[in-house]
Amino acid sequence: MLHKGQCHCGAVKFEFEGDEIRSGLRCNCSICIRKAALMTEYAVAPDAITISAEADALATYTFGSGVAQHHFCNRCGIYTFHQTVRQPGHYRINIGCLDGVDSIQMPYKVFDGASLL
Ligand SMILES: [Zn+2]
Repeated sequence: MLHKGQCHCGAVKFEFEGDEIRSGLRCNCSICIRKAALMTEYAVAPDAITISAEADALATYTFGSGVAQHHFCNRCGIYTFHQTVRQPGHYRINIGCLDGVDSIQMPYKVFDGASLL
């Protein structure tokens, strides 16, 4: 199905094809523990996501190996999605940014990124 989402201010919008989202993923690595965002369990292939951002609105933070690309809106500060370590180039999405998906009551798994990164 087609999922649509955006940051808080709307400067970064995106949509992707993926399964219905009934559960999420949290990670305990040094950055995810601070963001505390619920992410998609699956990673979206680069050709399955369309990102439209106003000029310079999409910012990227990297650390360590630099493989993971942590994207966020530099106007409202919201983390929208990142490109993963486990599947470089593929996107894991902030479920809280998606239209019509309730991230609050959703069950989730925990990924032990702290031991990997
Ligand atoms: Zn924004």
